[in-house]
Amino acid sequence: MIQDPTIAELLKKNRPIMSVEFYPPKTEEGGAQILATAAELQKHFKPDFVSITYGAGGSTREVTQRYAALLREQFQFPVMPHLTCIGASKDELRDLLGTYQRSGIRNIMALRGDPPKGVTTFTPHPEGLHYASELVHLIRTEFPAMSIGVAAYPEKHPEAVSLKADLDHLRHKVEQGADFITTQLFFENELFEQFVLKCRAEGIQIPILPGILPALSLEQVERFCQMCGTRLPVKLAHQLKNTTNPTERETIGIQWATNQIEDLLRKGVPGIHLYILNRSQPALKLMKQLKAHGLWPH
Ligand SMILES: Cc1cc2nc3c(=O)[nH]c(=O)nc-3n(C[C@H](O)[C@H](O)[C@H](O)COP(=O)(O)OP(=O)(O)OC[C@H]3O[C@@H](n4cnc5c(N)ncnc54)[C@H](O)[C@@H]3O)c2cc1C
Repeated sequence: MIQDPTIAELLKKNRPIMSVEFYPPKTEEGGAQILATAAELQKHFKPDFVSITYGAGGSTREVTQRYAALLREQFQFPVMPHLTCIGASKDELRDLLGTYQRSGIRNIMALRGDPPKGVTTFTPHPEGLHYASELVHLIRTEFPAMSIGVAAYPEKHPEAVSLKADLDHLRHKVEQGADFITTQLFFENELFEQFVLKCRAEGIQIPILPGILPALSLEQVERFCQMCGTRLPVKLAHQLKNTTNPTERETIGIQWATNQIEDLLRKGVPGIHLYILNRSQPALKLMKQLKAHGLWPH
């Protein structure tokens, strides 16, 4: 059985690591789209790892598990499944972690999770966990060989009373044994840079991977920004508003993301995590552009 490299090990390479995020498909067509995108990525770009999310409300446990296995077996990607505390007892979480570990998966993104659609407040499972920090603790103590990623929010988690309180909770996740942090999407690098400085000042020293989303339309980014509490720069909104042509909009979003990535890499980030939303064409265009600029490091 093949054991994936851990992301903690990959981060020790002396070059930035590049990773890509998929989400579990809802339909057969969506499943075919993931596999086609993965095949293109494997052929041309070989990301260091891919992650696969866990549906809001814990709704995609089996699909996440199935695609984590497919992405490893068919394409040999090191895979990081996301896992949330929602709708699962501690024993159910242990079962799933054990299954992953036995299959050779060695990376997990540990999250509290978002409630299902239409529900606004998080209610823990009666025999489950309240916060991502508790899931990190469970994994670190019972599955010590796993590399653990946690989420962070350069513009503050929407529920947090202040950025300082959010940073205190982030530090707690790190103290429980997280190996690295992946951020929520952002469109202004200054916000990420200030966030990293604040983390360091709070004693959070582990690598922080910026999460980058290529904007594909104004409606899409406005929706994401509202959901995540992310600021949409006036300039980007204006550029996207000024054309009705979807290809031109895509080009604007890809160029914005390329500029962000170029600047972040120049400033020495340990890697880039790309939110590609399972879409092969924009993802491939972005990666080709990064490669052409010498920014895709393989
Ligand atoms: C990179 C990334 C990947 C994601 N992937 C998924 C996914 O696959 N599936 C999904 O459903 N969602 C996903 N999300 C969204 C995430 O689940 C939500 O943002 C969720 O609301 C918070 O999860 P968390 O792990 O950050 O929670 P936590 O770190 O537990 O924090 C949740 C909130 O509680 C506060 N808090 C933490 N600890 C304490 C404490 N001890 N006392 C009081 N307050 C506390 C925090 O400040 C924060 O406001 C992802 C987010 C990111 C950035």
